[in-house]
Amino acid sequence: MTTPAIITVAITGAVPRKADNLAVPVTPSEQIESTHEAYEAGASVAHIHVRNPDESSSSDPALFAQVQDGIVKHCPGMIVQFSTGGRGRNQNERGSMLHLKPDMASLATGSVNFAKIIYENTPQLVEELARSMLQYNVKPEVEVFDVAMLYNAKTLADRGLLKRPCQVQFVMGIPNALPVRRKLLEFLVSELKELMPDATWSAAGVGRHQLEVNQWCFELGGHIRTGLEDNLKFDRDRLARSNAELVSRVAEMCGKYGRHAASPSEARQILQLPPPKP
Ligand code: ZN
Repeated sequence: MTTPAIITVAITGAVPRKADNLAVPVTPSEQIESTHEAYEAGASVAHIHVRNPDESSSSDPALFAQVQDGIVKHCPGMIVQFSTGGRGRNQNERGSMLHLKPDMASLATGSVNFAKIIYENTPQLVEELARSMLQYNVKPEVEVFDVAMLYNAKTLADRGLLKRPCQVQFVMGIPNALPVRRKLLEFLVSELKELMPDATWSAAGVGRHQLEVNQWCFELGGHIRTGLEDNLKFDRDRLARSNAELVSRVAEMCGKYGRHAASPSEARQILQLPPPKP
């Protein structure tokens, strides 16, 4: 028996589309289609950002609802995870779609510099988003962009603002935030295991580091994140054709590490999420 590895596909992200990333799905119908292909390739979690018609990042609940409905309909059991990320969005609106009760939503537990901006998550905003997720029974995925955020998550869980077991995502390779170092990931994982032994985790490597971080996650027993949000290239010389292509790449790696791509129901069990709504 092999152990399931949950594959999350981050299909879109918040960065405006340029000539070199036309494979990134932007409209709700493109997003649903791309998620469906990734689901067929082995993804069990879809991490969703939505875009306005001008392709800027949006918090419009109507867009989130459209994508959510399409995924529920076409990808039975798949876990829908909304981003509450800040880039290009009004701070007050970042949780404005949580009433749609996605299975999960991202929650960054602190502020950090990115390449050119401050990714601002004040203690008050973090707490508001966490409370809102509790209210609507949405499981947070804690996004750790810098080391303190791991300890903040533990504090929030101790205060009852995050339900256990927590799912934690370490994001490596964003300029000015966590660097891509295996020793650092090993340290973060060992700290997580000591602080919250029941937690699950995965890590995302940005850009050319995606595949390397995928390998580390397999080796260290974590779950896997891939997708065009984090990386547009399949390898050094070629752009990825689709989210599904990036998902297939990690799904095919599973066997080498005694893992298999988790089915949606296995992923729900591991994350302690309820079965999908009929
Ligand atoms: Zn995201």
